[in-house]
Amino acid sequence: MNIFASLKTELQQYMTGNELASIEKAYEFSKKAHGDQIRYSGEPYITHPVAVALILAEMRMDVETITAAILHDVIEDTSVNTTNIINQFGQEVSNLVDGVTKLTQINFENHAQAQAENFRKMIMAMASDIRIILVKLADRLHNMRTIHGLPAKKRRRIALETLEIFAPIANRLGMHAFRVELEDLGFRALYPLRYKILKTAVEKAGGNRHEIMALIETQIREAITKAQLSSVNLSSRGKHLYSIYKKMHEKHLSFSEIMDVYGFRITVGKVDTCYRVLGLLHGLFKPISQRFKDYIAIPKANGYQSLHTILFGPYGVPIEAQIRTEEMHKVAENGIAAHWLYKTEKKALHDVQSRANAWLQGMVEMDQSARNSLEFIEHVKSDLFPDEVYVFTPKGKIIELPFGATAVDFAYAIHSAIGNTCVAVKIDKRLSPLSMPLESGQQVEIITTQNARPNAAWLNFVVTGKARSHIKHYLKRQQHAESIALGKRLTEKALFTYGLELGQIATPVLQAIVDASQLESIAHLFEEVGMGNRPAPLVAKQISKSFSSQLTSGDALHPLTIQGTEGLVLSYAKCCRPIPGDHIAGLIKEGQGLEVHLMSCPHLLAFQHQVERCVPLLWENNIAGDFSVDIQIDLLNKRGSLGGVTTALAELDANIMTLRAQESDVHHFHVEMTVTVKNRSHLARIMRKLHRQSDVIRILRLKSRAV
Ligand code: MN
Repeated sequence: MNIFASLKTELQQYMTGNELASIEKAYEFSKKAHGDQIRYSGEPYITHPVAVALILAEMRMDVETITAAILHDVIEDTSVNTTNIINQFGQEVSNLVDGVTKLTQINFENHAQAQAENFRKMIMAMASDIRIILVKLADRLHNMRTIHGLPAKKRRRIALETLEIFAPIANRLGMHAFRVELEDLGFRALYPLRYKILKTAVEKAGGNRHEIMALIETQIREAITKAQLSSVNLSSRGKHLYSIYKKMHEKHLSFSEIMDVYGFRITVGKVDTCYRVLGLLHGLFKPISQRFKDYIAIPKANGYQSLHTILFGPYGVPIEAQIRTEEMHKVAENGIAAHWLYKTEKKALHDVQSRANAWLQGMVEMDQSARNSLEFIEHVKSDLFPDEVYVFTPKGKIIELPFGATAVDFAYAIHSAIGNTCVAVKIDKRLSPLSMPLESGQQVEIITTQNARPNAAWLNFVVTGKARSHIKHYLKRQQHAESIALGKRLTEKALFTYGLELGQIATPVLQAIVDASQLESIAHLFEEVGMGNRPAPLVAKQISKSFSSQLTSGDALHPLTIQGTEGLVLSYAKCCRPIPGDHIAGLIKEGQGLEVHLMSCPHLLAFQHQVERCVPLLWENNIAGDFSVDIQIDLLNKRGSLGGVTTALAELDANIMTLRAQESDVHHFHVEMTVTVKNRSHLARIMRKLHRQSDVIRILRLKSRAV
């Protein structure tokens, strides 16, 4: 069978006899050059360049591009050189073949490690002639279609490279159909099992969706007919497997959350019909506000134009609708290639071409002005991979992070020890909050101190799994250690009732209790006490029993002192917010450790009959730190009166954590706020100062708020 035949049939549809003849000459030349080389699949090698040429012929590419496609592997794989090609096929074809050959020689490990210089070369090749990348993409598409013949390791490398380099480039050039096929083939080659499972699931879900799709379709069609709009086409729109997989994987959406969205595309003749159809749809189903996008007025960077809206369909199912003209649709599917495919002077086609050129031109200028290829690559990458950010270490190393990542994610990405001890960050040499999302191109310097430790609040803003798991792991270990220490002290205190000290108790005595309670170790016993799962008085009683001492108690209430740094197992009750200097007591809360209350707190008093849960407490001398306290202020409703209060607080070093202001009547303001203070005397100074303000009518500390 002549493998050239099908290519020829395709070419005959748009090429002249002369052009065909010169392509046939290239075919004979290439066939001879590749000789008896065979592909992994066992087929003659020449089948590959011919197939690549066919893909490009379907895109109606010109004679030079098709010729170059047929010759694209001869320099790399045979004894033919550039001079031979110039002599036989001219400079233009030779330049294309040369460009594709150079791209083939670039070896991408993956996009994070891709050598900046190599990436630069590729962009430059694209800029010198966009047809080079089209041949390369067609080459890659055919290789992906026939990848099953390759050994597993090579298959994975090529699949990864396709997903990370070539599909994004196709996307950037607006070549949707190419991108979708490259992604699905890459996905299948990289994760065959996941691909198969997902494919089956999608097919199954399709069956269930049929009825509701038909219902929505009928309603839309009826509305269109009623409005007497002509040449309107409606089609349902599925998502490709890789995009479903990526959504599940990266956005942690469930399969049904993705599949329960019904996609429709409506193509129309003229631009203004797009907006009329949009109005029709919004009249038919309620649109979800904030989700409407007008990419017709403001096209995407790759030239894509369409209206997007999301509607509440029947039974509340979300409907995603895309509305565009036929011409916009051609661009949406083929991007830059639409220029060759539809040889018209239509504006949309012209736009996408000039946009791509402007983008590439911008790249060339970037390259000229960039101080180094790292800086250049950073720009190109953030352009090709908008879901990722690329930032620099102070030494210029690129760190790749998901969109929204913060300095804490960055710190953990470098090393868990850096993450665990980070306290501050300089972004582009300026101190910034650790929670600030990073942007591509920034230089990030983490400041660490030896005794710092991860903060539970970080979990609210980190986005990488690595940071999250390290922080959680650390907190768990930390809580464990703190619980043991607290449990020990609670037991020690409870033992006092029996005139005993922990130091006097021999290990076998404790071990006997551990065994009897079916615990793992002595540390575990104390942890249980510290966490409030096992009352200290009960444990003390057991200890004293097995110590078989008949000493009776003298001092029943010997308080435990707290230092304020107990951390996770010790918390301050929000109902009464005790501060150093207050009379306090502790309430043992199951699984949570000790909660410190004011001795007078009504919430604590409710437990006073449960002696084993209440612990008398004392503050350690000279406690340092900030403690929250609630205060209430009644103010004259005058301009600047609230400002006077906040200024006074700031002057006395008290931070306002929350503030709720309410007009109680025309003349008065009622303000409740939570502020941080050092201790009782600090609070007293604050209250005195506020009291002296003429606008302040009344001020008091709140000690029993409902929480
Ligand atoms: Mn090839």
